[in-house]
Amino acid sequence: MQLIGLTGGIGSGKSTASRYFENLGCAIIDADVIAHKVVEPGSKAWKEIVKNFGQEVLLPSQQINRQLLGSMVFSDPGKRKILNQCTHPYIRREMMLQILWNFLQGKKFVILDSPLLFESKLTKWMKKVIVVYCSEQQQVDRIVKRNNFTEDEAKQRITSQMSLSEKRSMADYVIDNSGTLEHTRLQVVDLHQKIRALSHYHGLHLWILIATLFILLLFVLLLLL
Ligand code: ADP
Repeated sequence: MQLIGLTGGIGSGKSTASRYFENLGCAIIDADVIAHKVVEPGSKAWKEIVKNFGQEVLLPSQQINRQLLGSMVFSDPGKRKILNQCTHPYIRREMMLQILWNFLQGKKFVILDSPLLFESKLTKWMKKVIVVYCSEQQQVDRIVKRNNFTEDEAKQRITSQMSLSEKRSMADYVIDNSGTLEHTRLQVVDLHQKIRALSHYHGLHLWILIATLFILLLFVLLLLL
C-alpha cells in the first residue's frame, strides 16, 4: 500500500481537494480530525493538556477551548512545544492504527491529509506528496471569509507556517487552486488516475499478515500499559 501525502497552506484549499479525493472513493486519513479526536475529554492527551495548561483551557462542556489554547501557544514556541508533546504521541499512534486498518482492508493507497506534513517530517514516509497551491492574497481572502478573521490575523496565520511556495517546490504534484472549484476538481480527477497507476497491490501475503497482526498486538499492549 502506498502512502500519499496531501498538504498546503492555511486556506489554500487542502480540505477542498481532500473532499474531491474522498468523493472519488479514496481512503483519507485526516490529521485534523485525529488531532480533535485525541483531545476528547478524559483522553490521555486531554489529561496532559489540563495538567500543563490548567483548568482554564476547558470549556464548561469539558472540551478543550481550542481557540484559547491556540492563542496561548501561537506566539510562544516554548508552550507550543509542550502542547505538541502532550498530543503528538497520541496523534502518531492513531495515524498508525488507521494506516494499518487501511492496509488490512487491502487498499492500494491511502491519502494522508495533513497541514503540517513537511513541518512534522512525515514526508519521508510518503510515496508522493501533493501540495495544494494558490496565491497568498487568495489565501488571505478565503481565510477572512471562512474564519471571520481580519486581514492582519489571516496574514499572521499564513506567515507562522512554512511558506507555501517552499512547500510547492518540494511537491511531487501541485494542484493549482487559484481558479474555479471545477478547475480544481478536474485536476484531482486527473491526479487520482496517476496515483492509481503507480499503486500496484499484490495482495496480502501470509507473512505480511502475520507481521501486521504482531504489530497490532504490540499496539494493543502499548494501549493497555
Ligand atoms: P484549507 O483546508 O487549505 O485551509 P479550504 O479547502 O478549507 O482550505 O479552503 C478555504 C476556503 O476557501 C473554504 O471556505 C473553501 O470553500 C474556499 N475555496 C477553496 N477553494 C476555492 C476556490 N477554488 N474558489 C473559491 N473558493 C475556494
